Amino acid sequence: MRPSTIAIDGPAASGKSTIGFHLARHLGYLYLDTGVLYRAATWAAQAQGVDISDEASVTSLVRGLAIDVVPPTIADGRQCTVRVDGIDVSWEIRSPRVESAVSPVSAYPGVRESLTQRMREIARNGRVVMVGRDIGTVVIPDADLKLYVTASPEERASRRHLELQASGKSVTYAQVLAGIRERDHIDSHRKAAPLRPAQDAVLVDTTALSMEAMFCEVEKLVNGCSEHQQHQGAYA
Ligand code: C5P
Repeated sequence: MRPSTIAIDGPAASGKSTIGFHLARHLGYLYLDTGVLYRAATWAAQAQGVDISDEASVTSLVRGLAIDVVPPTIADGRQCTVRVDGIDVSWEIRSPRVESAVSPVSAYPGVRESLTQRMREIARNGRVVMVGRDIGTVVIPDADLKLYVTASPEERASRRHLELQASGKSVTYAQVLAGIRERDHIDSHRKAAPLRPAQDAVLVDTTALSMEAMFCEVEKLVNGCSEHQQHQGAYA
């Protein structure tokens, strides 16, 4: 039987969102990249001038936030539209400013509790691919299939650097690598729901894998690679 709930975890720029997005489309499942919730919470705290190091204020702000994640409302390359209290922040949450503060905000237990609850409500109906850092370990530990997607820090930095250059951002490879290493460190050393593979997760190392090979590897786990080969066109 096909897995109904699929949890995909891994560090920044490991390829987990790309895999999750295409897998969801292939299966006709809902896709949720949970990083956008933490990014939206961080954006809101910054927009309202809340001191990021003030755990109580950040947590209370996040508890009261209306965060909506819906399929793209504009065809501008986004994977989803994200609204905070009705404001479209789909691109703002990708800014370096948000990126530099998102890991400290995500380490607050109260913030995690509030956002985890929302994720579980979404997962309750099944037919979902959920991507993040603690999906298989904490959010839906009973997921039917768990993947832990990883790649070397250098490879991940090089992918993210190319993406940023393509979108016109001027940032060096060394800065991107430093940012990725810092987020990895905070995400995997925090007390609440640290980044780590679930015991029963299948490890997928994408360092030397092309996009096609990556999909093939993952689809083998879901429904067999031969079927994937008949569906290759779906990834164009
Ligand atoms: O996946 P993405 O890079 O968008 O995630 C942004 C940040 O959100 C991560 O660095 C991490 O601190 C946090 N996050 C988390 N738990 C999740 C998803 C994201 O702590 N399930």
